[in-house]
Amino acid sequence: MSGSARRKIAIYGKGGIGKSTVSSNLTAALSDMGIRVLQIGCDPKHDSTRGLIGGAVQNTVLDYLKEVKPEDRKLEDVVSRGYKGCLCVEAGGPEPGVGCAGRGIITAFDLLERLGSGQVDSDITLYDVLGDVVCGGFAVPLRNDYADTVYIVTSGEFMAIYAANNILRGTANYNPDRIGGIIFNSRGDPEEEARVERFSEAVGIPIVARIPRSSVFMDAEQRGATVIEAFPDSEIAGTFRDLAHAVIEGKRYHARFLSENELEKLILGRETAKKEKPVHRELNVTGTEFRPYTSKNTAYDEPIHGCAFSGASSVCTSVKGLTTVLHSPRSCAQLTVQLDSKSVKGAYTRGYSTSETFGDPDVICTDMGEGTMVFGGNDLLRRKLEEQISLGKRDFAVITACPPGIIGDDPRGVAATVEKEHPGVKIAVLEEDGNATGDFMQGTLDAGIGLIERFASKGDTRPMTVNLVGVKTMASSACSEL
Ligand code: SF4
Repeated sequence: MSGSARRKIAIYGKGGIGKSTVSSNLTAALSDMGIRVLQIGCDPKHDSTRGLIGGAVQNTVLDYLKEVKPEDRKLEDVVSRGYKGCLCVEAGGPEPGVGCAGRGIITAFDLLERLGSGQVDSDITLYDVLGDVVCGGFAVPLRNDYADTVYIVTSGEFMAIYAANNILRGTANYNPDRIGGIIFNSRGDPEEEARVERFSEAVGIPIVARIPRSSVFMDAEQRGATVIEAFPDSEIAGTFRDLAHAVIEGKRYHARFLSENELEKLILGRETAKKEKPVHRELNVTGTEFRPYTSKNTAYDEPIHGCAFSGASSVCTSVKGLTTVLHSPRSCAQLTVQLDSKSVKGAYTRGYSTSETFGDPDVICTDMGEGTMVFGGNDLLRRKLEEQISLGKRDFAVITACPPGIIGDDPRGVAATVEKEHPGVKIAVLEEDGNATGDFMQGTLDAGIGLIERFASKGDTRPMTVNLVGVKTMASSACSEL
């Protein structure tokens, strides 16, 4: 069972449902049968393989990526040998509340592939995956080139079955004929088995294992072992051995899933109650947060030109004495600064006067890389601001590109902390999140308003005069007329 015959199995289940216990016991049962298994834990809490390696905590792929330079990375550094020679890997993930765990799975899989995990001597690769399928990252093992068979662990609680149904839906998006079966992990509720049976019948997927609630799991955990290792003669060890045989047999079924309404009716015996929400379709139809001034293309959901990150950068880099911090990957910063310098050059050559900062803007980029997108960019942003403060800079505009918005960075929180720790420092935070808030023009509007709100002091008003705020792209077309 090697080379092209290698099986790839994904065990999915809602967080906390016991899929890691099921996975490690299945790996142990297969290992007892002389089958070489590589188990890859894909849950940020990285405890999938603990029972196989004597209860130890192993180095995760993502921590390794953070700590070791690319040229020094080796597969053996992230693979541990466990019970009966099985191989164990933990993908890892960011701390709760920061970064992007789904992106972490993608990054970990890429790195494992680059390090040659495909060449590892094993008969079965078993992925233990957090199965709430909240984003594309957690769906990676569902792709054809990863899992050939998907097993779903569920109890009889509604949310566990709801997650199981979502996994079926996710599998249907790739190749629906790969479901190996449902593994019922009981919580001890007398009603739950009947619920799981109803679900199994409705989606046409059999229950391939029924695991009763038992204290042997906790006893085995205390010994840092699986039930297979600690209590090989127990009834539960027998259940896992039967499951191992079913896995080897490898029957697969078509993924059929239920609508939300069908599921609620089937499991809870009632219809889904939906609250109607009024929809305003005049302005802000894109669903972006309402802003006092909205560019026309953004407001009416028309094709957008450029991104708000770029527009905001264009305004901020032309303000003398302001340090612009582009919280973005290098590519976004390069693109936007290049765009700026092109428009500046055009204005110069056409003879329009421009601000002196145009030629040499005070701008830095936080240079978000793969690691930042997994673990979050708050620390990086703070570090970059402090570097600039140590150089004597005091006034900043922080502008966010797409990635910080997608992974949920908190630039306002970072700015508040930095301002508190460095009296006299002022930071205008422009959460443009790339094009999530709109187009180039939206960025210029946001930057104008954001900078005025943060830095301008009220002066005397002069009757019959207006302040005209322009952006430099106006220079070539409108200055002469003004
Ligand atoms: S749209 Fe997003 S990814 Fe593209 S340049 Fe703007 S910030 Fe960067």
